[in-house]
Amino acid sequence: MAEQPLVIDSNAPRPEPRTSSVETLRQEILERLTYSVGKDPAVARPHDWLTATILTVRDRIMDQWMESSRDTWRTGKKRVYYLSLEFLIGRLMRDAMSNIGIMEQVQSALKSLDVDLSSLITLEPDAALGNGGLGRLAACFMESMATLKIPAYGYGIRYVHGLFRQEMSEGWQVELPEEWLAHGNPWEFERRESSYEIGFGGHVEPITEPDGTVRQEWRPSDHVLAVAFDTPVVGWRGARVNTLRLWSAQPIDPILLDKFNSGDHIGALEESAKAESITRVLYPADGTPAGQELRLRQEFFFSSASLQDIVRRHLQQYGDLGSLPDKVAVQLNDTHPAISVAELMRILMDMHGMKFSSAWDICRGVFGYTNHTLLPEALETWPVALLERLLPRHMQIIYAINAEVLADARNRAGFNDGQIASISLIDENAGRRVRMGQLAFVGSHSINGVSALHTELMKKTVFKDLHTLYPNRINNKTNGITPRRWLLECNPGLTRLITDRIGPDFQDDVTLLKALDAHAGDPNFQQQFAAVKRANKAVLAELIRERMGVVVSPDALFDVQIKRIHEYKRQLLNIIEAVALYDDIRAHPERNWVPRVKVFAGKAAPGYWNAKLIIKLINDVSKVINNDPSVRGLLKVVFLPNYNVSLAETIIPAADLSEQISTAGMEASGTGNMKFGLNGALTVGTLDGANIEMRDNVGPENIFIFGLTAEQVAERRARSEVPRSAIDNSPRLKEALESISSGLFSPDDRNRYRDLVGGLYDHDWFFVARDFDAYAAKQREIDKLWNNPDKWYSMAIRNTANMGWSSSDRTIRQYAEDIWSVPVTGGE
Ligand SMILES: *Cc1c(COP(=O)(O)O)cnc(C)c1O
Repeated sequence: MAEQPLVIDSNAPRPEPRTSSVETLRQEILERLTYSVGKDPAVARPHDWLTATILTVRDRIMDQWMESSRDTWRTGKKRVYYLSLEFLIGRLMRDAMSNIGIMEQVQSALKSLDVDLSSLITLEPDAALGNGGLGRLAACFMESMATLKIPAYGYGIRYVHGLFRQEMSEGWQVELPEEWLAHGNPWEFERRESSYEIGFGGHVEPITEPDGTVRQEWRPSDHVLAVAFDTPVVGWRGARVNTLRLWSAQPIDPILLDKFNSGDHIGALEESAKAESITRVLYPADGTPAGQELRLRQEFFFSSASLQDIVRRHLQQYGDLGSLPDKVAVQLNDTHPAISVAELMRILMDMHGMKFSSAWDICRGVFGYTNHTLLPEALETWPVALLERLLPRHMQIIYAINAEVLADARNRAGFNDGQIASISLIDENAGRRVRMGQLAFVGSHSINGVSALHTELMKKTVFKDLHTLYPNRINNKTNGITPRRWLLECNPGLTRLITDRIGPDFQDDVTLLKALDAHAGDPNFQQQFAAVKRANKAVLAELIRERMGVVVSPDALFDVQIKRIHEYKRQLLNIIEAVALYDDIRAHPERNWVPRVKVFAGKAAPGYWNAKLIIKLINDVSKVINNDPSVRGLLKVVFLPNYNVSLAETIIPAADLSEQISTAGMEASGTGNMKFGLNGALTVGTLDGANIEMRDNVGPENIFIFGLTAEQVAERRARSEVPRSAIDNSPRLKEALESISSGLFSPDDRNRYRDLVGGLYDHDWFFVARDFDAYAAKQREIDKLWNNPDKWYSMAIRNTANMGWSSSDRTIRQYAEDIWSVPVTGGE
């Protein structure tokens, strides 16, 4: 395994860098179409133009990509590796063009060829290699790391099918395969030379070395090949280009050739399919652990490939593994890559002859772990028996780590048996399972929560005893969003307006949006702000008409809840309130009701029955309300199918009101909340996750906070409070619930919602009933404000002005300084 040290010859010949005048772009698009896509421009189809344009844009990133990489080799800068089972990237072309500043030139070049750039943009498929917030965070982080000129790699899986495509069939969610690679992927480069063998199964053999020491060697029974596919990630103004390296599983050829030659064609094909199955689909789980063995295979597959790659690169440059913590930081995005801790130990000890204690020091020097949820059902564990069978050597290492940690706890900290049981890597209660959160924690020097509240709760709940044992490890890094995609690109109208007002500097430092505060009271600016919002709403209204056949007025209040469908996110609270409002509008037609459009979007995990039922309920309710003439169009309810990054980019700039109404204590951070605030929507929300920090930043007078606090929820949970009285004391809630459970909205199946509503009477696990009155009252307060547009838009402006803190540049600076110890040389 001796690596040749890589020497970079800075005098090696290079091509002239590309220029980006309209004329050269036009010429190159034609050349790419002809020579790379192989299409005669006279007959080229839109997809051919898209591919040719992407290739032309991509070329403009190449020089900087190679320069960025040469720079890291030359200077010996520390590299950051972000390991994530999910990257919810969305479309790349507009992002790349905008970040390198060639959008207008490309548009003109295409126009001269009679091709419309904006329709090409919408042709590009979303790379949906993630479920929701966690995967989108990874994508925002990649962009911010490039912007801040941090040498970084993202490592993940190149799923053939990303998150399922959602369609509606009579109001029910149906899941269809996502075919994002159907037209090829012009962004990626396959790197056959960067491929690694990944083992599974087999046994462990002790080997006695000539000097008498014993070394363990894992002899796997199966192997698959991990092949790298690289996608460039370009930072703002082309600051730096980093690599997103996604692994694809393939069979190891010679074995199959043997099988084929011996006449076992089916066996060869089966083996090939089995290998490839590892990276075929993204698990559509959200907050529930996928129990499948295949999921564990995916986790180990990408962890092992990434670590082998990291160690190879390090040895190639430095020749010695002792310096690993000085030159390498590995961030584990949740516990999905937690097996990396055992895999790095195995590589260091079994393959490089290191002693346990030195390997263990290196491990903790290298790894940082980000926890994303405290939902008990989401804390990943694997049966010991499964790990023993699939990864026998890793199981041994986990036992060794556990022995070390438990000895430390007993001897140094004097832990009692209860505390020992709580920190142990092995959960002995539920049939012996390995706790991946504990493994990630003990193997890392830093464990971070993703909002201030979530970090505090982490210290008090899941990691209470580990926090006592290692009190300096837990820290907070509140999530963020990249303002490039979530303001500059998705809302060009607002970007132009802000630039006209305060100049363009905020585009490089989004905290400068603060200057807008001074203009919040200016009626002229309020009107301009409102005009931008209205134009964005007209676009969304058109999309709603086109896709749903529902006509909505852009002058109505657009009230938006878009996110994964989950009971803790409480779409149910929102739709029940819509039903109550519907009752009120009919009961009091004389009142001056504010016209509202309630927009929902989001996917439910396919096995999550209540979440799917909530989608059906929203659709059932919308059918009745939208078609009831006595509502006089004052209330419309729309569920837009197939929520993804691109749909979010259209909806968020058009939102007046952002619904962030999770049960307090359950949303670790939320990032959707930040995207809306930045785009000038007002938030109605609970004191949960990053909503709390939003309130602190925009000021409590510019946000609508309601409901029980995390502490109150925990206290009521602890005494098993019965929710019934909340319903009995609220006639509006009672009436709404009765109309739903009696089948008013489901005449074809009157019992459809009986159990769903029954749950609110029985246990109300997510405090829907108990927060209802506070929520409904807040909505009427919001109506009042809507009738005072000067006030409304002054608040909206103050939201945009005070969301600079939510930039993922801020988050990444904090990771860089506190966790990774890498300098930040880019950005403002
Ligand atoms: C931002 C984003 C999320 C996360 O939204 P939350 O409201 O924080 O749950 C999920 N999916 C997509 C497509 C997003 O863009």
